[in-house]
Amino acid sequence: MSQIHIQQKRFDPIYKQIEHASKYTEEADLSPEEIKDYLHTRKILVVGAGGLGCEVLKGLALSGFSDIHVIDLDTIDISNLNRQFLFTQEDAGKTKSEVAAAFVNRRVKGVKVVPYVGNIMDQPLDWYKTFDIVIAGLDNVEARRWLNATLVNLARNDIMIPMLDGGSEGLFGQARVIIPQMTACYECTMWTVTPEVTFPVCTIASNPRIPAHCVQYAIMHFPESHDGRKCDGDRDDDVDWCLNVAQERAKQFNIEGVDYKLTLGVIKNVIPALASTNSIIAALCVNEALKLAMNLTFMKHYLRYSGSEGINVQPLEMEMNPDCIVCGGAEISLDVGEDETLGNLIDRLKQDETLQLKNPFVIFNGNAVYNSKLPFTEPNLEKTCLSLFGKHAELTVSDKFMPDDQFLRVKIKVGPG
Ligand SMILES: [Zn+2]
Repeated sequence: MSQIHIQQKRFDPIYKQIEHASKYTEEADLSPEEIKDYLHTRKILVVGAGGLGCEVLKGLALSGFSDIHVIDLDTIDISNLNRQFLFTQEDAGKTKSEVAAAFVNRRVKGVKVVPYVGNIMDQPLDWYKTFDIVIAGLDNVEARRWLNATLVNLARNDIMIPMLDGGSEGLFGQARVIIPQMTACYECTMWTVTPEVTFPVCTIASNPRIPAHCVQYAIMHFPESHDGRKCDGDRDDDVDWCLNVAQERAKQFNIEGVDYKLTLGVIKNVIPALASTNSIIAALCVNEALKLAMNLTFMKHYLRYSGSEGINVQPLEMEMNPDCIVCGGAEISLDVGEDETLGNLIDRLKQDETLQLKNPFVIFNGNAVYNSKLPFTEPNLEKTCLSLFGKHAELTVSDKFMPDDQFLRVKIKVGPG
């Protein structure tokens, strides 16, 4: 019998008893009324109404959750229809969250799905505070990192919102339960995330040598002319835009070989999602939501599903990382060579497997030293750290996936490299 009881709106009692959670493996001894009551009072946020999001919405609605909210900034493209089954051909061009919500509301009586169109990073903190559980069905690491950091920050203010994160790639998938400040957060285990192939920022910005550098340049500048939206390899016009910009760039630097196929390859750089894997992973997330909503035990903490050679499902208990940049100390020390440039230093931060910074911006003494959005800081990439910061310095480093009030302190000590 479950011994974990939670309040209407808060999950605190779970956290207090979490160390004993392993004892509570038996079925809940709850009456149907109690279960119904639990499910009807939980307010759930689904982040993303794509392949995973559609499956998660279906699972939640059919399981008895009735207060469901979904956010997505994207519109429906024909290429989505092979897996995003809440949409039809007539929906092309409409917003995903609104169409998905309307479909589920029509289909499942008594369920209210409330759609939001927009970027998760633009939603106020007060909005996040109102949810009991967040399920992330996202297709990119950056948004997951941001969401994770935001929920960890809320937990610091005693607002505990569990995050269930699903991800899928071809025949592989993963699902995990993150209880902010109580279990390993997403960032604690960045080492499990395969780093994207990245090119040194200075190479892309000023010294491209191969065709892929030109495409990366186009991808990097894509959001500036598309309302902050990232380039989507599923959209023909996005790929065309990048192809044009990359070819222009290639011409400038006398580089040959930028064509449609290469551009698409660099943009996608991912294995396509399978509808069947999405549905497995989404179902796991929904099950975890059900257990959390009813105060039962939950999966600890990370599950990797590999469907390539028979089915192998492996749960792993993840440890919190005391040096985690989100829930840990958020400080690192680096030895810097006397000749080392800021560009080198930034590339080192980007290549660090546990940090996996994408496009870090650096602040020193309250001033922006490097920020890819501020062209006047670009010449600093070629300058040495010694000339910019002196022998000892503390830099403030942040990245797009980090919420505004969060940053990493980087202490540097310059010495003969
Ligand atoms: Zn962490």
